[in-house]
Amino acid sequence: MMQSGGTPIFVLKEGTRRERGKGAQFNNIAAAKAVADAVRSTLGPRGMDKMLVDSLGDVVITNDGVTILKEIDIEHPAAKMLVEVAKTQDEEAGDGTTTAVILAGELLKRAEDLIEQNIHPTVIASGYRLASEKAREVLEKIATKISVKDMDTLKKVAMTAMSSKSASGHKDLLSDISVKAVSTVAEQRADDSYFVDDDNIQIVKKQGGSIADTELVDGIIVDKERVHPGMPAQVDNAKIALVDAALEVKKTEIDAKIEITDPTQLQAFLSEEEDMLKRMVETVKKSGATMLFSQKGIDDLAQHYLAKADIYAVRRVKKSDMEKLAKATGGKIVTKLDELSKDDLGYAKLAYEKKIGDDSMTFVTGCKNPKAVSILIRGGTEHVVDEVERSLEDSTSVVAVAIEDGKVVTGGGSSATEIALALRDHASTVGGREQIAIEAFADAMESIPRTLAENAGLDPIDLLIELRKEHKKGNKNAGINVFAGKVSDMKKENVIEPIRVGSQAISSATDAAVMILRIDDVIAAKSGGAPGGKGPGAGEGDEGAGEDF
Ligand code: ADP
Ligand code: MG
Repeated sequence: MMQSGGTPIFVLKEGTRRERGKGAQFNNIAAAKAVADAVRSTLGPRGMDKMLVDSLGDVVITNDGVTILKEIDIEHPAAKMLVEVAKTQDEEAGDGTTTAVILAGELLKRAEDLIEQNIHPTVIASGYRLASEKAREVLEKIATKISVKDMDTLKKVAMTAMSSKSASGHKDLLSDISVKAVSTVAEQRADDSYFVDDDNIQIVKKQGGSIADTELVDGIIVDKERVHPGMPAQVDNAKIALVDAALEVKKTEIDAKIEITDPTQLQAFLSEEEDMLKRMVETVKKSGATMLFSQKGIDDLAQHYLAKADIYAVRRVKKSDMEKLAKATGGKIVTKLDELSKDDLGYAKLAYEKKIGDDSMTFVTGCKNPKAVSILIRGGTEHVVDEVERSLEDSTSVVAVAIEDGKVVTGGGSSATEIALALRDHASTVGGREQIAIEAFADAMESIPRTLAENAGLDPIDLLIELRKEHKKGNKNAGINVFAGKVSDMKKENVIEPIRVGSQAISSATDAAVMILRIDDVIAAKSGGAPGGKGPGAGEGDEGAGEDF
């Protein structure tokens, strides 16, 4: 509140909470650290899983940083910024979400110490920015090139991303599937670089069977069976009609009363309906289609005629599936059935119905557009199927970014250690107070190998000393071998990651840390998440904390 001539002036609405100075900073940092702590134990192949139960009692079991943070309800504004870090990381690199959040938390934790030592947050922020740039330079320098044809390395990249997931028991099969899927859909650009459109990889989940039954299908899977058993169960060289129209006779909206006085009239009325359906099927047949996907319904009688015409028909197909079919087969979705012509048809070499678990599904394979593939996920329970899906999303993304960027680095904390070493060297050339911030950044980088060691139940101090020693000797690939409990060459251990996972984690963690550091005043409306209220480490007794206006 402000005083003016003895009368208090209320600038902000009553009940607005305001927090300033170090109080605001420490409170924000505490909240961000709490988020990092929530995911820390999941990092790495020996990290633990989390079971999340929502208010309705639905359960998600996962190890995926971004999934955990999306599922839990987070109120604190600074904590929310860390959730954003995970989301950005997921969108940009598809993996490394836990790493990015841990890094942001560590940067802030170390900044807190520096603030205590009276180093101004803007100095820390600029030191962090310098360090982040340098770190990404180091990554570029230690990266090795790979090509789209290097299936071997790509598989290692997929395996590494998968190794921390519970589906890792099947990582061999799932990595093969990911690499094949991504390299099939990768498109070469004019400048020889590659582009991968994730939308070309369809993921279909079907509970039942085992993870080992998960398969890659060259084409599209529609989770529907043919409408009539009299239809062929397999169609070679399928010419595919895609219609967003019903093969039904529309019932009149108003209740019309038809008076029939003579049995022949009834016959005429019924055969009129029959004729209409017959004509619809005739239109489909005349177009040359041997397969029909309808977004709407297909009348029983129409089904009968379609079966007689040897046409494989599917009804009530989802709009998104129709669109995928159109893209894959080169067909056009027709909204008026009588306008269906030969030119609208799509093509697939082989389409068939196959029983998966209890249901039959329609497989459309060998499509006109060869860049359309599907992964059919199988697994004992819904939770298993969902976690396999998340693992596959991670592994296909890392393979995709590895192909797009054409560069990989070694994981297991090896690149992070190399960066820390280079940063400490660099810091001395910068000097001043920023030097201290750059050194803090280096320490934060080392939280990756440290956490990997901790989560594997190993002694982090011994391993970190050993790791530094190896890197000083020039062993750039030395990292934490979480299985053998020692420092090993990560290249030999096949722990390979796309460069983008690391560089994106560094840049988004830095952005978030810097943004949070620069805040020295939090003004929150009454109903919003109260800073200094429920947030962890609410700044009791801190200067300027929780002032009421
Ligand atoms: P994120 O969400 O950050 O991807 P993960 O739980 O997937 O978190 O763990 C990734 C970390 O685990 C990376 O630092 C990666 O290098 C490391 N890692 C993966 N496989 C191995 C391995 N076999 N040995 C040591 N570290 C590994
Ligand atoms: Mg991962």
